[in-house]
Amino acid sequence: MIACLERFVHETDAESRPHDDDDDDSLCRGLELQGSIDYGSTGGLAGKDFGGLYQGKAMAIIRPAGSQDISRVVKAASRSSNLTVAARGNGHSINGQAMADAGLVIDMRSMMSSMDDAFIRVVRMNGAVYADVGGGALWEDVLKRCVSGYGLAPRSWTDYLGLTVGGTLSNAGVSGQAFRYGPQTENVSELEVVTGKGEIVVCTAAHNSELFFGVLGGLGQFGIITRARVLLQSAPDRVRWIRGVYAEFDEFARDAESLVSEADGEAFDYVEGFVFVNSDDPINGWPSVPLDPEQWFDPTRIPRSAGPVLYCLEVGLHYRNVDRPSTVDEVVERLLGRLGFCKDLRFQVDLTYVEFLLRVKRAEEEAKLNGIWDAPHPWLNLFVSGRNIADFDHTVFKNILRHGVGGPMLVYPMLRSKWDDRNSIVLPEGEIFYIVALLRFNLPYPKGPRVEELVAQNQEIIQCCTKNGFDFKLYLPHYNSEQEWKKHFGNQWSRFVERKASFDPMAILAPGQKIFSRNR
Ligand code: FAD
Repeated sequence: MIACLERFVHETDAESRPHDDDDDDSLCRGLELQGSIDYGSTGGLAGKDFGGLYQGKAMAIIRPAGSQDISRVVKAASRSSNLTVAARGNGHSINGQAMADAGLVIDMRSMMSSMDDAFIRVVRMNGAVYADVGGGALWEDVLKRCVSGYGLAPRSWTDYLGLTVGGTLSNAGVSGQAFRYGPQTENVSELEVVTGKGEIVVCTAAHNSELFFGVLGGLGQFGIITRARVLLQSAPDRVRWIRGVYAEFDEFARDAESLVSEADGEAFDYVEGFVFVNSDDPINGWPSVPLDPEQWFDPTRIPRSAGPVLYCLEVGLHYRNVDRPSTVDEVVERLLGRLGFCKDLRFQVDLTYVEFLLRVKRAEEEAKLNGIWDAPHPWLNLFVSGRNIADFDHTVFKNILRHGVGGPMLVYPMLRSKWDDRNSIVLPEGEIFYIVALLRFNLPYPKGPRVEELVAQNQEIIQCCTKNGFDFKLYLPHYNSEQEWKKHFGNQWSRFVERKASFDPMAILAPGQKIFSRNR
């Protein structure tokens, strides 16, 4: 479909004219896109995100058919005096990061539907296998295609797969495999990117490397990822998924850290953990731990020494259909035998690999039915240094959050050495750091708490970390001032600014991150 509604008159004319909205309008109407431009419903898809805390009103939504369309849009924006462009993945940001107020929002998902089956292509190179994947593809589609078509799968995931490839690569993409393979940003070898100058550039760690590393974890600031080459490995058939409960944080942390530090070989393939409330609260407490409706959490098994919260280590072991059940049992028992969780508070299920990776989808379906999915989600994600995590437990989990957050409170360790420091992500110092993810799922007010109270609690947690001198960074960061961004990036700020000047000098891209202002 040609979306050329009106020819854009004369480029140089536009450059010399002072800006007004009509100029932007005609500029967009003059784009000859293979895809389409939608001027209606801009407050809908483009103005909302999963967080539900911010609302935007874009000037138009672009549904591109390919990278050329995106390039045209970015170039057109650069000819205007004030237009910005936001790639929108699946809009699962919390704080309006994928919005462009009065700007152009590119619906990356629509690019996938116009490419049909071609959006995931398996390529073999130098003894390794990769999937070439569109930036707007959902990870759940990548999973299904790679497993069912080839018996292959990416190595590193997020817990929830209704996220786009470009969206998670712009942040990091972490789950229980990151301790071994690093985040998703460590598992791509090549990207096709449309820069803020509208250039379509293919980049790798060796060619156009500054752009490659900049874009990974780059919060959408340097380019729009239109294709990623994702490393694959042979997919297992099944996963044994196990949870074990601890009363003491130091024992939980010691076991979790030893599991993530083990050399490859006989080890769990997935390691995560979470904190839950020591009560019968159906959402925050004991009932949140069993993996199956048939299982029951027996509170009489909780050690007397337990405090207001308990800890749960969550591990997974991959295996194949041909593996004998007794062999799988032996390996699991050997690995679990070294751990100090309460042996009577252990839960396990066996799932297919795809079921395991789609485990959060069930929660999504339930939350959609009861209205919680569409309610605001003031989530907070932090990376906290291993040095400070025990104090964090003491001050935050056992105190500020002792009644829970209305959803999972994830906490598990990762290794800094698995994260390439050439990319744009910032982490605490030291080899071991923890992700802390406070995934609030509350009913909308007045059935649930006021959003303002939850946002205030997030602020209290951040202030508590700052006051106590904890070494921490926000994951999926959100700040409103340059000063705060500077502090966030620390000694990497100047590199971030230089990359911006090189690849998006007019600051057109991802305005919703509120890092840079559009240059006029
Ligand atoms: P969007 O929210 O649409 O965009 C995010 C940012 O990236 C925006 O600034 C946008 O402009 C930019 N962007 C989007 N696409 C591109 C592109 N192609 N090129 C360049 N920039 C782009 N994160 C984890 O690491 N692990 C998890 O387990 C995890 N689970 C989650 C579960 C849920 C239910 C939700 C809501 C979020 C979860 N996240 C998780 C966070 C998630 O990774 C981020 O919110 C991510 O940004 C969402 O991807 P998206 O495709 O919706 O991106």
